[in-house]
Amino acid sequence: MSAAAPVLAVGSVALDAIETPYGSRDPIVGGSATFFSVSASFFGPVRLVGVVGEDFPEWAVTMLRDRRVDLQGLQRVPGKTFRWAGRYDGTLTQRVTLETCLNVFETFRPEIPEAYRDAKFVFLGNIDPGLQRSVLDQVRSPRLVVADTMNFWIEGARESLVETLKRVDVLVINEEEVRQLADDFNIVRAAEKVHAMGPRILVVKRGEYGALLFQGKDVFAATAFPLSNVVDPTGAGDTFAGGFVGSLAREAEIDDRALRRAVIHGSVMGSFSVEGFGLERLQKLTQPEIESRFAAFRRLSEF
Ligand code: AMP
Repeated sequence: MSAAAPVLAVGSVALDAIETPYGSRDPIVGGSATFFSVSASFFGPVRLVGVVGEDFPEWAVTMLRDRRVDLQGLQRVPGKTFRWAGRYDGTLTQRVTLETCLNVFETFRPEIPEAYRDAKFVFLGNIDPGLQRSVLDQVRSPRLVVADTMNFWIEGARESLVETLKRVDVLVINEEEVRQLADDFNIVRAAEKVHAMGPRILVVKRGEYGALLFQGKDVFAATAFPLSNVVDPTGAGDTFAGGFVGSLAREAEIDDRALRRAVIHGSVMGSFSVEGFGLERLQKLTQPEIESRFAAFRRLSEF
């Protein structure tokens, strides 16, 4: 393991509204880039690119800065912060989007500060695929480009998304979305179709069932950690991605072992995220807790 290379992350920084049968929060700080950055910051330096409005709380900016997240690329502009509202069912596995208000995101054009352009690890969080490409146009020679997306873009901007995928090494996406993207209910066939679109590595997030790593014909399965206290799954996917990319940025070589370790680190981080609303649990998380859950993951499926 070597010193971590900085990770460049672009995505939404949001004020969410979350409803579960067991509690709700409105507003609560969220967003794909926020969850990703807090999670990846446990592994090494992170450089965030995003936009917030005047209503974004100062404590959250300070919290990110305290976690070594470089905020030179975070624009604060007049208007309201991106807002997403969702409601979960009684098992906390199904959710409906009640509201997506782009707000300041509508006119957002990512500007990558000069100091970020040599980033070797780039995470394109869940935003308009055209904006994801504009980030890639501004970085010089990344070693690994990792992207996320969601049904909102698969349905609403498919052609643009397909363009972006041609330039992506790793796609991290959930099971329902990979089916939708590939137009195939079978995950193995869907993975082949995604490979053909560009990404040579595909990580399929399966919520409480864990994650699958596809590299061509090679598949690695990681289970999810059995938890007795699941509170809010929002952001688990981005938190997973933060652990995954953060872990890879510490590796001298991105080989099969490194990718498998990264999937487990992603699973570890995702498992913490769901134990609190929004960022609540991640804000209290410690390095020893991460190490101990990583060891517990190893025991979980060893035989
Ligand atoms: P996840 O639960 O991993 O899918 O991530 C949820 C986070 O993604 C929330 O904090 C939202 O603010 C953010 N989000 C939801 N929809 C979108 C969208 N269309 N574009 C960008 N970010 C979004």
